[in-house]
Amino acid sequence: MHKFIVSIDQGTTSSRAILFDLSGRVKFVSQMEFKQYFPKDGWVEHDPDEIWSTTQKVLRNVIKKSKHLKGKILTIGITNQRETTILWDKHSGKPIYNAIVWQDRRAVDYCNKLIKQKKETLIYNKTGLLIDAYFSATKIKWIIDNVPKAKELIKKRRLLFGTVDCFLLWRLTGGTNHFTDATNASRTMLFNIINNKWDRQILKMLKIPEHILPEVKDCSDDFGHTDPKITGESYSITGMIGDQQSATVGQCCFEAGSLKSTYGTGAFLLLNTGSRIIYSKNKLLTTIGFRLNGRNVYALEGSIFIAGAGIQWLRDKIKFIKKASDTERLIKKLNSNNGIYLVPAFTGLGTPYWNAKSRGVLSGLTRDSGINDIVRATVESVAYQTYDLFEAMKNDGLRPKIVRVDGGMVKNNWFAQFLSDVVNVKVLRPKVDETTALGAAFMAGLKIGVYKSLKDISNKWKLDKKFIPKMGLSKRKKLIIGWQKAIKRSLII
Ligand code: ADP
Repeated sequence: MHKFIVSIDQGTTSSRAILFDLSGRVKFVSQMEFKQYFPKDGWVEHDPDEIWSTTQKVLRNVIKKSKHLKGKILTIGITNQRETTILWDKHSGKPIYNAIVWQDRRAVDYCNKLIKQKKETLIYNKTGLLIDAYFSATKIKWIIDNVPKAKELIKKRRLLFGTVDCFLLWRLTGGTNHFTDATNASRTMLFNIINNKWDRQILKMLKIPEHILPEVKDCSDDFGHTDPKITGESYSITGMIGDQQSATVGQCCFEAGSLKSTYGTGAFLLLNTGSRIIYSKNKLLTTIGFRLNGRNVYALEGSIFIAGAGIQWLRDKIKFIKKASDTERLIKKLNSNNGIYLVPAFTGLGTPYWNAKSRGVLSGLTRDSGINDIVRATVESVAYQTYDLFEAMKNDGLRPKIVRVDGGMVKNNWFAQFLSDVVNVKVLRPKVDETTALGAAFMAGLKIGVYKSLKDISNKWKLDKKFIPKMGLSKRKKLIIGWQKAIKRSLII
């Protein structure tokens, strides 16, 4: 009989369930998109019931498939969009407001107030995070302050908070288990990453009651069993980990110094720093990479807001390409970027700038410039933004020489080579491209003994293609100077 592990990958635009065999190969994927709500400028919401119904459907599809393949599902792992915030009534199970998505900016003013009150150092030292509306804490605060039902339920001790992992687990276990994992907790801006506890001082500062928060478990832990009313038979849930950390595990970046970068809609780099907390002087976030047996492995994280989203912009908005893969063909028609740069600061800039107000810039245009140049500049921009993250790491004394990459954009071989050239590192692309889902499956399998150790898991990682830096120093320098000039322009507000 075949044996499988299921990973639920609840993302920002779709819910997916993936059936893995025990060697980490994908056997089946079920995916459903759901609606994005933009009620006001800068606000982004999801309907938690849609998150739930799509997750239920894809999970049932995968269970059905496993039976069709005459196999047995040994356990389930959950990975998820991080920071997105849901508050619900413990008795009725009903959310009291839509999920406020990580991209949502409504709490900016409140964050600015905290910054004015000089709370930055305190919050950074305890949580590893910069004060930003991105994280869950001020989203929770917004709901408590603005949805009357919240205060009423707090009084009755019936209000529960969870990020998406936690909300799904609660529903999957038939409304019983209110747990999250350390990686998701570490993105709330309420969790003390040194002592592994919800931080009472921050909770008090934000007037968030501790009793609404979930219990925080390891990434590989006993999270309970699914309600057979939902899944036919009952399955154990033994893995839980936020999406970027999950990709880090899926890429087997278990050693201090190992680095992964995921190029999806945005791009996220996570550098494993082992048991050491490194506080960045260059606006990288410090976060929990994973927690096993109560011990944290820490990571530094850098975020690029627009990576594949720039390619989507080329396709959907300015219609220069029909599909994402056209980019490679068009770029290859050019010998150089002809001095043209795009800074895709469409929603501000992430690490190391953290500038919410900067906007996009296209520079260096001449009468000769055409579609191919702009397509090239868009793809190149993702490599330059990665270069900026590497410079930030370098300034913090960290110089990784290899990066393991994944996400939709790295299918583009030209991009992967250019990335290697500009950043001057070896770029390794693995065979399994579902690394995010795979990480949660690994964590789930580890708990039930399918995998004996992290080393055992590491042996499953297989190389698809390696890209080695080939560009000469002077060409590289010239390109980077051009980028830096363009960035300066985008920072003029
Ligand atoms: P997410 O998980 O954020 O939805 P994915 O990892 O599925 O993202 O990657 C999708 C992104 O990758 C899209 O933004 C798409 O434009 C981009 N992409 C896909 N294929 C290519 C390609 N061949 N070249 C450049 N970008 C690509």
